[in-house]
Amino acid sequence: MTYTVSINADPERSVPFIDLVPQHREIAADVMSAVERVFSEQKFILGDEVVALENEIAAYCDADHAIGCNSGTDALIIALQALGIGPGDEVITTPFSFFATASSICRAGATPVFVDIEPDTFNLDPNRVEDAVTPRTKAIMPVHLYGQCCEMDPLQRIATQHNLAIVEDAAQAIGAEYRGRRAGVLGTIGCFSFFPTKNLGGAGDGGMMTTDDPELAARMKRLRVHGDVGGYEHVEIGMNSRLDALQAAVLRVKLQHLDHWSVRRQHHAKRYGELFRQTGVLDLIAPPRVRADRRHVYNQYCVRVREGHRDAVLQGLKSRKVGCAVYYPKPLHLQTCFKSLGYTPGDFPHAEAACHDVLALPSYPELPAIDQQRVVDCLADICQELRGVQRRRLAA
Ligand SMILES: *Cc1c(COP(=O)(O)O)cnc(C)c1O
Repeated sequence: MTYTVSINADPERSVPFIDLVPQHREIAADVMSAVERVFSEQKFILGDEVVALENEIAAYCDADHAIGCNSGTDALIIALQALGIGPGDEVITTPFSFFATASSICRAGATPVFVDIEPDTFNLDPNRVEDAVTPRTKAIMPVHLYGQCCEMDPLQRIATQHNLAIVEDAAQAIGAEYRGRRAGVLGTIGCFSFFPTKNLGGAGDGGMMTTDDPELAARMKRLRVHGDVGGYEHVEIGMNSRLDALQAAVLRVKLQHLDHWSVRRQHHAKRYGELFRQTGVLDLIAPPRVRADRRHVYNQYCVRVREGHRDAVLQGLKSRKVGCAVYYPKPLHLQTCFKSLGYTPGDFPHAEAACHDVLALPSYPELPAIDQQRVVDCLADICQELRGVQRRRLAA
């Protein structure tokens, strides 16, 4: 399909930040027949559908084992518990992520220890991790933010040297690669989310853990069902965190399309870069930086807005009915619920600057070219206005 693209796309056109309807329309027949299969069998919890999805995800990530659970958050908690991490233990992670990254550490009973990010990739800075290691440190939890993998080799070296586990928060990064290997097999355990807006999104909540370690796999499998090893024999206290057969059936249909969708997201990212250049907004809008040894899958396409203009650009887009979002407006170390950890503003300047500067633009796979053009036309408009304000300020 080709689109005619005008320099000024329809000024009245509203552009949603994300629209899941066109994707569903494409695959609706397959999804509904998978759903009907589950209904005709009436086996709704775990079972063959979940085992099949686990095998398919394991193969997709090149992991030996995959274990489905109720959400990405539960995947992180179960992973930490399977590693025996609990009260008195510390887990090193990033302050610039979704809340569940840090809350899962607390839910497991351990303490999150934050380390600042790299300003260009927004990911945990491996050069700062070693200084944060103490005798209580048990694991590192890197987050592959927006769909780009962290710098894993140095993290792996530190982990080996200090005998630490690595739990990847790969919720935004299914299919992302680091030096030819996929997210989910870059540490001890990988954790995924199937929240509907993730790159592989279900029809509700869902999650998965991946690992090459058979003992960890067995422990995660029982932790998701109350620590039951079979026959109501409970060897430890687990959770109720089972994956529904309906979710697995839907996800199996969608997994077949995932790589194609990732390519579309990459295409949109490339196109944004070209349009930014053509419209001359690069002085104010910095596109995401991708390291050469990574495959970025763009769960979010996040730009950095320079010179403190982020909120002005955000308001400008909103008033032009163009969807956009801030991931994330407040760093985790400054969240009220983590006050007792004792962090203060200024502790992690790169994470704090990112909260102030980042802006996510529409980038779902089915984003129409004309909508993307409209986003950039509006950005160009807004940048023009901002430069005018600046010039008047300088002249005054
Ligand atoms: C979505 C997300 C989670 C949590 O996943 P849920 O399935 O919503 O529980 C954890 N970490 C990151 C980075 C996420 O983006």
